[in-house]
Amino acid sequence: MSAHEDKIKRAHALAGGGSLSNSRSFEASRAGYSYNSTKAHDIQERMSESVSDNGHSSSCNHSSLLVSNYEYNFRISSSKRYDLLQGIKKLPGMKEYQVSKCMNFFPVNGKREIELVKKHDQQLAFKNLKYCSSIWLCPVCSSRIASERRRELASAVEKSGAYTALITFTLAHSKRDNLKDLLEALRSAVNKVKAGRWYEGFLEKHEIIASASSLEFTHGEKGWHPHIHWLIFLNKRPDSEAIKSELSVRFSAFLEKSGYYASSFHGIDVRATRKDVSGYISKWNVIHELSNVQAKRARGSSLTSWQLAQLAVSGDKQAQALWLEYARATYRKKALTWSRGARDLLGLDEEKDDDEIIQEEEREADEHIVSFEPVEWYFILDNGLIGEIHHQARIGGAQAVNEFMIRIRGKPLKEFLNNAQNFTKESEVR
Ligand SMILES: [Zn+2]
Repeated sequence: MSAHEDKIKRAHALAGGGSLSNSRSFEASRAGYSYNSTKAHDIQERMSESVSDNGHSSSCNHSSLLVSNYEYNFRISSSKRYDLLQGIKKLPGMKEYQVSKCMNFFPVNGKREIELVKKHDQQLAFKNLKYCSSIWLCPVCSSRIASERRRELASAVEKSGAYTALITFTLAHSKRDNLKDLLEALRSAVNKVKAGRWYEGFLEKHEIIASASSLEFTHGEKGWHPHIHWLIFLNKRPDSEAIKSELSVRFSAFLEKSGYYASSFHGIDVRATRKDVSGYISKWNVIHELSNVQAKRARGSSLTSWQLAQLAVSGDKQAQALWLEYARATYRKKALTWSRGARDLLGLDEEKDDDEIIQEEEREADEHIVSFEPVEWYFILDNGLIGEIHHQARIGGAQAVNEFMIRIRGKPLKEFLNNAQNFTKESEVR
């Protein structure tokens, strides 16, 4: 495969292909438009044909023409997150999850347009859309939620002035283990460790006043590797050795009862330097480097869930199956849990759930850059162009976006609208 073909294939994979879903037509009809998905599919096919006159693969869709001139590797990460989301929405099994509807048009306060705005922190955001608030499956929502959670974790460490230590619980696993069972065994053993009179005594002895635990997953040569990080706040300098040995005995015993195992050496890790703790916080749910995932996989190193998603989006069947397994296992699981009373004690406000964090951002004051009509938005969504729009806005503001949109507002959008009549006013349909 030539480098150019490879690039087109990658652009296609990142942009995602495929036809419109029923859920889309529901969202569209709510917004006063109805969507004819079969005809929309036809028109997409025709678009693929019309872009193939440049002599390249006829299987690439319209977005390839518009974006293949750009090198994805040099994109800033937020544009890539939109591209990754578009790819994830089309992965097998994702229709059942809210992420498949993320960024569909959803009129807030009767607004008829999608707005691209610049927020006070200079970040760009699209408004009047439905966001899925999924910290596990959506790279766009996850990154917003995680940045708020990281801010709180950092503030708790700073404001409390307490000593801190980071404890990690893991269990032995192999390729044969499925993630749901592993996670259940791990969570159950950790919950049992943190219960009863023994635990109260343990907290008292080490003067642990508050804690926050979080879930994390990687996948490597030995299969899934779920782990629980437990950040503790103490009134005295932590005795790492004692903490490790006391927890290990109890943790291993509970795991073994449910048929799993953790060695006394590897099951629990305790780190207590300032650097360990700040490293954990600054990396909490960060979407890691998304380039060269294939190469990383080939070397046998372990992948984060977002790297796995990228591999799945690029067409790797094994990664697609793993991603679906991960979606099922993480369904409705909290990513971060504070101990009772911890937030108060550490000077944090009342906790917002994931959805509230996303909603709050929608209400923030911001600077208008450009608007899109719903039909234009569905064209953008369907062709996987959100990342591109974001990228243009980033480098050239409203002018660059408008120049880009001129290419869409011409023939491609007209064809999308006229030939297939895929959008009709709601009053015209029954
Ligand atoms: Zn989302």
